[in-house]
Amino acid sequence: MKMSEPTQFTAQTLRGELSFDVDMRRHTSWRAGGVAKRMYQAADLADLQCFLQQLPVQEPLMAVGLGSNLLVRDGGYKGTLLLMLGALTELRMEGDLIYVQAGVAGAKLARFAASNHLCGAEFFVGIPGTMGGMLAMNAGCYGSETWQKVVRVQVLTRRGELLERTPQEYDIGYRHVTLRESSEEFFVGAWLKLEAGDVEKARQDIKVLMEKRSASQPLQLPNCGSVFRNPEGNHAAKLIEGCGLKGKTIGGAQVSEKHANFIVNIGDATATDIEDLINEVRTTVLRQTGVELHPEVKIVGEKLQ
Ligand SMILES: Cc1cc2nc3c(=O)[nH]c(=O)nc-3n(C[C@H](O)[C@H](O)[C@H](O)COP(=O)(O)OP(=O)(O)OC[C@H]3O[C@@H](n4cnc5c(N)ncnc54)[C@H](O)[C@@H]3O)c2cc1C
Repeated sequence: MKMSEPTQFTAQTLRGELSFDVDMRRHTSWRAGGVAKRMYQAADLADLQCFLQQLPVQEPLMAVGLGSNLLVRDGGYKGTLLLMLGALTELRMEGDLIYVQAGVAGAKLARFAASNHLCGAEFFVGIPGTMGGMLAMNAGCYGSETWQKVVRVQVLTRRGELLERTPQEYDIGYRHVTLRESSEEFFVGAWLKLEAGDVEKARQDIKVLMEKRSASQPLQLPNCGSVFRNPEGNHAAKLIEGCGLKGKTIGGAQVSEKHANFIVNIGDATATDIEDLINEVRTTVLRQTGVELHPEVKIVGEKLQ
C-alpha cells in the first residue's frame, strides 16, 4: 500500500472506512483545528490489526477517541489517525471482569457496570472520552482514576501484533501513562475489576455526578475539559482566576467565566487562537505567581505557515 495514492487504499481485506482530508473540527470537542490527511475507522479489532499490518512503518500514526482532550493545529496532521470511536465497541462481562474495547465511551461503561450490579465505575460517566483515551490519559475525577480499575490491557503494536499487558509494565501517575519499554502501540481493550454493589446507589451517584458537572463546568460551549494539570498542592483554576484571567479572549477562544481552567470556543475559534490563549495563560500565571502550568490537553500537528 502506498500512502500517497488514495486509490491504492482499497485493499480487499479491509472492511473499515478510510477517509482523506478529514476536518478535525468534527472530531474534537473544541470544534476547532485543521485537517487530518487520512483517518481510518476500522470495522472491528481484526480489521484494525489487518490495517496496521499493511501500513508502511514510516507513516505517522495516532489514535483518536472522542477528541475531548485533543487539539490539532490549523496546519493539519500529516499522517493517519485511527478513529477508535465506532470501531472498537465491544463491552461484555468475562467472568467477574468487564471487557471493554477502546472505542466505548465512559458514560456507556458506567451504565453497563451499574446494570451488572458493579460499583466503582460511576466516575467514568462525567468523562466524555473513550476507554482508549481514558487509558492513555489515566483520566479520572472525584478521587478515582482509570488505571485503579485495570487488571490488564490489550494493545496493538505499530505492526499489528496483538498483545496483553499488565499495569506493572507502565509508569502510571496523575494524567500520565507511559510504557516502560520502548514500543509504539495503541490501546484496543481492557479488563476491569469492580466491586459488587448496590445498583440503585450507583445510578443515584451517576445522577449526582452529572448534576455537579453541569453546575460547575461550561458545558454549553465547545471545550476540552481542564486545559492544565493541577500543580502539586494547588489548583490550576484557582491560580488562573487569581491572575484575573477569567474572560480573557483571543479570537474565538476564551478563558471560561464559569471555570477558569476551561477554555471555551465562543465562535469560530481556530487552533491558533486556542494555543495562543494557552500560552498567554501560562506566561501570565508564571509571571504573577512563579508557578509553571503544564497543559493536560494534547496538541498535535503542524502550525499554519
Ligand atoms: C467537558 C469535559 C470534561 C472533562 N472532564 C474530565 C475529567 O473529569 N477527568 C479527566 O481525566 N479528563 C476529563 N476530560 C478530558 C478528556 O475527556 C479525557 O482526557 C479523556 O480521557 C479523553 O478521551 P478521548 O477518547 O476523547 O481521547 P482523545 O482526546 O481522542 O485523545 C487524547 C489522547 O489519548 C490518545 N489516545 C486516544 N485513544 C487512544 C488509544 N486507543 N490508544 C492510545 N492512545 C490513545 C490520543 O492519541 C491523544 O494523545 C474532560 C473533557 C471535557 C470536554
